[in-house]
Amino acid sequence: MAPLSVAEARDRILDRVAPTPAEVVAVESAHGRVLAEELVARLTQPPFDASAMDGYAVRSADLGTLPSTLEVIGQAAAGHPFTGTLGRGQAVRIFTGAPVPVGSDAIVIQEDTERVGDKVRILAANIDRTHIRHRGLDFQEGAALLAPGRRLGPREVSLAAAMGYAGISVRRRPRVAVLSTGDELVAPGQMPGNAQIVSSNHLGVAAMAEVVGAEVEFLGIARDLPESLNAHFANAADADVLVTIGGASVGDHDLVAPVLTARGMSLSFWKIAMRPGKPLMFGRLEQTRILGLPGNPVSALVCARLFLVPLLRALLGLSVEASSPIKARAAVELEANGAREHYMRARQVRGEDGLPLVSPVRSQDSSLLSPLAEADCLLVRAAGAPAVPIGGLVSILPLDF
Ligand code: AMP
Ligand code: MG
Repeated sequence: MAPLSVAEARDRILDRVAPTPAEVVAVESAHGRVLAEELVARLTQPPFDASAMDGYAVRSADLGTLPSTLEVIGQAAAGHPFTGTLGRGQAVRIFTGAPVPVGSDAIVIQEDTERVGDKVRILAANIDRTHIRHRGLDFQEGAALLAPGRRLGPREVSLAAAMGYAGISVRRRPRVAVLSTGDELVAPGQMPGNAQIVSSNHLGVAAMAEVVGAEVEFLGIARDLPESLNAHFANAADADVLVTIGGASVGDHDLVAPVLTARGMSLSFWKIAMRPGKPLMFGRLEQTRILGLPGNPVSALVCARLFLVPLLRALLGLSVEASSPIKARAAVELEANGAREHYMRARQVRGEDGLPLVSPVRSQDSSLLSPLAEADCLLVRAAGAPAVPIGGLVSILPLDF
């Protein structure tokens, strides 16, 4: 099988991905979730004409000549309406958020008044601004304000609550099972013995999945033995996505694909024409999509960014375009690229023309985590791309999203 291009691999991974089923969650815990249904306002906001300021509710007809003195007949505060009706020559002391009394059509801000016993002197009035928020100014009952596929951030949850929702139908979080594989690996926090290293990338992969909105389960570390892999895979049966790290190559100890194939996985591909991350495996076992990431830390995280993130977005019913490259300019000269697409670790600053100015970080070795942590984007070089002069146009993919 010839190595696939990144675009072909992505297409295969995203092929026929349907969003996860909907579930209802309390609006209090809906933050970060993705709407499965359109939200239509169940309430009108504001529900009544409300004062936008502290001051006096008046009749604008009484303000023909200023100053004018009005009789204060009561008070209206937020949650405590004035129940009477305002007549000619009368005013009601009013506070922000209080319903505007019947008969009043304007609020005079308190800075423009002088209180004298049960009278108020209106010294000035800005007739262009009534300081009234009219009923329905924000939205009317029945207005469709939030479309399905919308991520509920801080603004959206506030709006949904104001619209009258207690429970919201959202996409179930995709279940992602993450398995590290390798005889050399120990869990984070453990002291590596002779010839051992700390398993690190599973945490980065999990963090990425959680940022997108998945629920992650760690399956632990499997040894490079079919029994060990099988024992761990057995715990991933209800995952939407199984991510394996390491063992995806074709070496004697690379058992992930053969063991999964023996379990019934249909293998879609296991090699792509990219750097870093040539050995990337993808397949399906029942409802579980399986992404076999290379073990090298940079390869694992770059491939997760390129393939896992869009897959999870598709499972959430989000557009996958948010993971598309953006235009930038090279801050340094770039050599011609080889036959494999290259995702260089790079940093960007804002350029004079508004486009990001991007330069690769010191080392492009795919086993090194510290240069990856210095990078904030991937500089995308197409297969066979010619050399780029300083200032030439390139594409970048932000690492943070
Ligand atoms: P592999 O893909 O299994 O051949 O691994 C390639 C390289 O990545 C080897 O040097 C492994 O030790 C390293 N590696 C594999 N898995 C991990 C992991 N979970 N965390 C850190 N390094 C890893
Ligand atoms: Mg290995």
